[in-house]
Amino acid sequence: MKRLLLYVAIGSLALITAGVAYLFFFVPGVPVLNYHEVNNQSHVLLAISSQEFDAQMSYLAKAGYNSITPDQLLDYLQYGKPLPSNPVLITFDDGYEDNYQEAYPILKKYNFTATIFLITDFVDHNSQYLTWQQIKEMAGSGIQFQSHTATHIMLTKASDSEVLAQLTRSRKAIEQHLQKKVDYLAYPGGFYNNQVIELTKQTGYRAAFTINLGRDRTNSNFYTLNRIPVFELPHTFFHFWLRLKLTRLWNSLQTLKILLTNCGASRLSDLIYIP
Ligand SMILES: [Zn+2]
Repeated sequence: MKRLLLYVAIGSLALITAGVAYLFFFVPGVPVLNYHEVNNQSHVLLAISSQEFDAQMSYLAKAGYNSITPDQLLDYLQYGKPLPSNPVLITFDDGYEDNYQEAYPILKKYNFTATIFLITDFVDHNSQYLTWQQIKEMAGSGIQFQSHTATHIMLTKASDSEVLAQLTRSRKAIEQHLQKKVDYLAYPGGFYNNQVIELTKQTGYRAAFTINLGRDRTNSNFYTLNRIPVFELPHTFFHFWLRLKLTRLWNSLQTLKILLTNCGASRLSDLIYIP
């Protein structure tokens, strides 16, 4: 009898451990990493060092991750088209010049593709941002370019006509320069609401990305796709690893935080820390 109880206890413990491991480590859903600047000069929130970016890409390569494009992600989410094993979508917002100087050689070193969401009016007009020549060169090597609007306008504060104009202008600019269809949008600052989603659909975008921390699954809303912000502090490898591996846990905490705020318990919500 004692032995039976022991077996039951060990069995239950193993099941619980497997359950927790599944929930926190083998989380279903595709991770979409989100970067901004990669350089050693600007010590701003959005910038991670080239060494740190290299370490993260090196980890992904050694761990057997395969980088995918937004088309591959959406074909999987929408039609169930199979993805390579360990898929990851690597994205950059804003189109900083260092994406060409620093990130691009590192991506090539590990044979990864990535997607850069451009603020199209800044291209060729601001030395901090990419030029069309750099963009064309990277596009020739398989880097994808998509829209982050024309001027990084906060879409939730703009009029309908302005939103439509921004979404159309930025898309046309990329399509004209690269002769490639633009189907994806990253909301500037991650801001969106139902009206913005409606206008994004109307303009013909297939999907749009937020900066809500989470992974994407077949039941995800294609116009509020999650990403894993890697640009938020602290810029350490451990932080990157925690966000990639325990995405589901942080996503649940984020949902709880929003719920508490909406219920008026913002003090309680403030107590919840998401690493
Ligand atoms: Zn941005």
